[in-house]
Amino acid sequence: MKRKKFYPALALLVAAFFLITGCWHRVSRPAPQENGKIKIYTTMYPLYDFAAKIAGDMAVVEKVVPAGVEAHDFEPSPKLVAGIYEADVFVYLGGSIDPWAEKLAEQLLKEGVTVVKAGEGLFQEEFHGDEENVSEENGHHLDPHVWLDPVLAKTMAERIAGAIAAKDGENAAYYRKNLEELKKRLDDLDEKYRNSLLPAKKRDFVVNHAAFGYLARRYNLNQIAISGLSPQQEPSPKKLAELSKLCKEKDIRYIMVEAASSSKLADVLARETGTKVLVLHPLENLTEEDMKAGKDYFSIMLENLENLKKALNE
Ligand SMILES: [Zn+2]
Repeated sequence: MKRKKFYPALALLVAAFFLITGCWHRVSRPAPQENGKIKIYTTMYPLYDFAAKIAGDMAVVEKVVPAGVEAHDFEPSPKLVAGIYEADVFVYLGGSIDPWAEKLAEQLLKEGVTVVKAGEGLFQEEFHGDEENVSEENGHHLDPHVWLDPVLAKTMAERIAGAIAAKDGENAAYYRKNLEELKKRLDDLDEKYRNSLLPAKKRDFVVNHAAFGYLARRYNLNQIAISGLSPQQEPSPKKLAELSKLCKEKDIRYIMVEAASSSKLADVLARETGTKVLVLHPLENLTEEDMKAGKDYFSIMLENLENLKKALNE
């Protein structure tokens, strides 16, 4: 391949031209509106999925947390934050899963961006059916995982739709129609969960990451978590020994993990206790492959239900 010659003087001249004419600005920061559509920025996956279903063809929806990234640990780069200022609507959950968004939301409000805190007022303290499991480090945190309860998810969807419709009044009827469809699907999902889980043989299930507290409460189940509210919290050997004993006592035959490859600890515990590993997806983020395969909140919630049924009935 022939190498192109580099002309520093010419490059400087071109740069000066862009700076003087202001074209530089337009090149590095595209105009906020695409074909007159409003732009919605969301933090984590379920907010993105709900916003996209409500927006349909009428608005552009962007997800700030990139595919495949662990949502609890994510911090946006300054460049990414600058991009969010283009938003017409900014949707975040609030609470411990997107804490960086709280401060940003204040700034965005001042710039005239419509801000939605989708989880506002929905958070409760981490729930332990078995009080012995409360430990110093995780006993007093508000649990952020509200989206895994389809009933609370409906409230979140209503808030997102309300903000989008208020910002883009011309298409409000269209957004409201999409919201009604989304709510109906969430009702159907709730019914499927109720019908399948309420009659299940067992009430206890073991997970590696305590993301399913709201789901457990809704369907009268008991989540036993190996680690805490964030998947990075490692359990003590004492806790592992307790869990091992608990699995035997309660005849628990499955350990549920976030993804097939996600937890060595769960593998170790599964081996020690003679249990098997099943996937229970917390829906905090999807991988690139999941997105390409067309998976969404509903398809994964149904996969979760199948595995929960297995864990609770075998
Ligand atoms: Zn989580």
